[in-house]
Amino acid sequence: NILVEQTDPELWSAIVRENQRQEDHIELIASENYASPAVMFAQGTQLTNKYAEGYPGKRYYGGCEFVDIAEQLALDRVKQLFGAAAANVQPHSGAQANEAVFLAFLKPGDTIMGMSLAEGGHLTHGMPLNMSGKWFNVVSYGLDANEAIDYDEMERKAHESRPKLIIAGASAYSLRIDFERFAKVAKDVGAIFMVDMAHYAGLIAAGVYPNPVPFADVVTSTTHKSLRGPRGGIILMKPEHEKAINSAIFPGLQGGPLMHVIAAKAVAFKEALQPDFKAYQQQVVKNAQVMAETLVQRGLRIVSGRTESHVMLVDLRSKGITGKDAEAILGDAHMTINKNAIPKDPERPMVTSGVRIGTPALTTRGFKDEETRMTANLIADVLDNPRDAANIAAVRERVHALTSRFRVYS
Ligand code: PLP
Repeated sequence: NILVEQTDPELWSAIVRENQRQEDHIELIASENYASPAVMFAQGTQLTNKYAEGYPGKRYYGGCEFVDIAEQLALDRVKQLFGAAAANVQPHSGAQANEAVFLAFLKPGDTIMGMSLAEGGHLTHGMPLNMSGKWFNVVSYGLDANEAIDYDEMERKAHESRPKLIIAGASAYSLRIDFERFAKVAKDVGAIFMVDMAHYAGLIAAGVYPNPVPFADVVTSTTHKSLRGPRGGIILMKPEHEKAINSAIFPGLQGGPLMHVIAAKAVAFKEALQPDFKAYQQQVVKNAQVMAETLVQRGLRIVSGRTESHVMLVDLRSKGITGKDAEAILGDAHMTINKNAIPKDPERPMVTSGVRIGTPALTTRGFKDEETRMTANLIADVLDNPRDAANIAAVRERVHALTSRFRVYS
C-alpha cells in the first residue's frame, strides 16, 4: 500500500475513495459482493507473473509445477462444490465462459435460444449487439402473464426453430428456474443444454437454489457474484464435453490463464465448502424475502410477485419515478442500486421503470432481517419523497448509522 501511495498518489487516492465508498454505502447491486481478504490476497501474489498456457501437467511453458497445484486445487474444489464431473477454471469472465461454449458447439448462422434481455436474460444470450446476437440466429423466450418463465412458449419455440443450443439462466429473474424441464425440451429437439448460473451460483453451492449440474450438458458461471470469489468465470460440464470446451478456452479463445485469479478462485471455492457459507446463503435468501415484503408494504410492486433467490426487480411506476432517477437519487442517499427494465417497460433501456435489488453484498457485511427491513424502509423513504434534499440527507445519515455498525473490511 505504502508503495502505491508513494509512487502513484493519483491512483492511490482513487483506490482509497473507492474503498471508503464500499464501506459507507449500502451495496444493493445484485451482481456484486465483497470478496474475502484471503481471496483478494491470493490475487495480489506473484502468481500474476506466471505464463501457464495449457492445463495442469500439460503446459506450453516451463516452471509451472506450483501453479499446477493451484489450478488443480481450484478444479477439485469446484467439482466437489457443485457435484460436477468435469470443470474448467480458466475463463477470464462470465462472458468468455459463454463464448467458449458457443465456440465449442456452434458455427456462425446456427440457431440458439435464450431468455430475452428485456425480460431478465443476459446480453450474452443473444442480444443483437453482442457477439451471440451478431453471429447466431436467435430465438428468445420470455415471461408469461404471471411474470414467470413461459415454459410452454419456450417448448413450442424450441420445436419450431430446432435450436442447436438452449440457454437457461438470467440476470434479473427472481424465481427458481425449472432446469429439468429445459433439459427435457433440449433432449426432445436434439439441442445442447447450457445453463448460465452466474447469478445463482453461490445459492446453488449452498443448496438453497436448484442445482442445474445434473441436467445440463454445460454450466457456465461467474465467480464474483453470489459465489463471492474473484472476478472471473468457470465452466462445468459432462465428461464427454471436456475436450471440446477445454480447447475452446485454450487455444480457441484465450492465451495464458490468470493464475493469480485461479488461485483466488481456489480460495473462494474452499470458503464456499465451509458450513458457514450455507448459513450465509440462507440469510441472503431470507434478506431478499424481507426486502421484497417490506417494499410491497410500502406500495411498490415486485416483478413476478416475489423472490425465491437473492434478487428482485422493483416496478417503480406507483411512485412516479424512473429507474434512471431512482438510481441517481438512491446513490445520493448512499444506497447503490442499478436501474433495470421491467417486463414490457414503456421507458427506454437507458431510463427504465425499474431497479434491480440484490442481497448478497449487504448479507456479507452482516445485515440480518432487521437491518434489511430498515434498508428497505430507507429505500421507500427516498422514493416517497425523491426531490426533497432534506429527506435525502436524513436518509443518508441513517444509512451511515447502519454502515458504521457493520464495517466490511475494517
Ligand atoms: N451471465 C450472466 C447471467 C450475468 O449476469 C453476467 C454478468 O452480469 C455474465 C454472464 C457476464 O459476466 P462477466 O461480467 O464476468 O463477463
